[in-house]
Amino acid sequence: VPESVLRRQTARESAARTCARALPIVPVRARGLTIEGADGRRYLDCLAGAGALALGHNHPVVLEAIRGVLDSGAPLQVLDLATPVKDAFVTELFRTLPPGLAGRARVQFCGPAGTDAVEAALKLVRAATGRTGVLAFTGAYHGMTAGSLEVSGGAGDVRVARLPFPQDYRCPFGVGGERGAELAARWTESVLDDPKSGVPRPAGMILEPVQGEGGVIPAPDAWLRRMRQITADRSIPLIADEVQTGVGRTGAFWAVEHSGITPDVMVLSKAVGGSLPLAVVVYRDDLDVWQPGAHAGTFRGNQLAMAAGTATLAFVRENGLADRAAVLGARMLSRLRGLAEEFPCMGDVRGRGLMIGVEMVDPEAGCGSVGSQEPGRVDGTRAADDFHAVGGVHEGDGNPEAGAGDGIDGAHRPFPVAPALALALQRECLRRGLIVGLGGRHAGVVRLLPPLTITDEQAEAVLDRLADATAAVAA
Ligand code: PMP
Repeated sequence: VPESVLRRQTARESAARTCARALPIVPVRARGLTIEGADGRRYLDCLAGAGALALGHNHPVVLEAIRGVLDSGAPLQVLDLATPVKDAFVTELFRTLPPGLAGRARVQFCGPAGTDAVEAALKLVRAATGRTGVLAFTGAYHGMTAGSLEVSGGAGDVRVARLPFPQDYRCPFGVGGERGAELAARWTESVLDDPKSGVPRPAGMILEPVQGEGGVIPAPDAWLRRMRQITADRSIPLIADEVQTGVGRTGAFWAVEHSGITPDVMVLSKAVGGSLPLAVVVYRDDLDVWQPGAHAGTFRGNQLAMAAGTATLAFVRENGLADRAAVLGARMLSRLRGLAEEFPCMGDVRGRGLMIGVEMVDPEAGCGSVGSQEPGRVDGTRAADDFHAVGGVHEGDGNPEAGAGDGIDGAHRPFPVAPALALALQRECLRRGLIVGLGGRHAGVVRLLPPLTITDEQAEAVLDRLADATAAVAA
């Protein structure tokens, strides 16, 4: 059966299939961290619905919530009518919001996917400000529909200004650390304030507190506070896309809490629906400029997803799973960094909470200058010349193309990213019964997004298998 199912999928589904290519398995049962294939093999699932499964597969509280709705005879599809199920969801959601939004929040239910909520957020800030352009960041991922693609890295649409997202390891300015983040912030300021930049006053700024698909890159807290200040000073609504980082994933209920900032708009999906499709945009009440009918969509009223979401949000809150993610994530990162000492093909190991990435690199290729895998580009972000063309950072502020000797010590000089090695590692993991994701600008980052309910022993088992698989690809 599994072979024929896989064969039919290959024959009938779009060539755009992603996970299915790398993970040729046919899951038929799942519980917690584990999924079982039709061939009886069991896997530890550290992709976990690309982060949608905060409580893992088929958690009892989630199943009970879903059964509760089914057994009650409540309608499953009600557009945006008021129901007790929705009332409970909004009450629980609002209970979790960062202090600056709680008490002043409005929610708009969107379509089933994260990208639907991103579209709604972009539309909302455009309506609220009467402006059109949106500031977005290199390496960002916000979804696959027109508006969200426009603000995702690499899309290069003219209606947005794309700004450098700070990174320590592959800093666009080649300096890393706090100074790299400060340069990125000053770049943003000059794009906004220098008439020569040609960027009109924007309707908003959208960012991920930790870039997920972009390669698990946590934004420095100080930089996030600078972005908050820069946007607040200029009355530009700040949209935090917490589709992947939300619901305890990074070690705080919402990732913006680490920096203490309050965004004007939050985009939420994935874990918010407790493994079922649900997406919402939450925003401060004074931005609620929409007229009746200004935003709609048939599938705004998924009662099963709301019930599953309520159960998940409450379980994470009541059981302190965000704190648990912080502690366990730090422990996993530290063991992974130990592994990276042993295996030079493991480059930067980074993450926040249980959102972890390991960049695979090619040490054989030699220690090049930053971005050596693509001349003139910094890890797939815009060419350094493009940054200068926008008119932001002035001479002496750090050269985005800087190599050795420009303030980068050895530790900051990365080897070229090795996507083939990352893919090989993913395959070796699968052979050992471990499912991991891939991400990053060149798909060179192996990603772990385990359920927040993962036990210490399971986390060790995951890392044991990853270590074995790394030894196999490094051999
Ligand atoms: N924003 C972020 C930060 C995401 O990680 C994703 C999905 N990976 C999306 C938006 C889009 O969500 P969806 O795939 O549900 O449309």
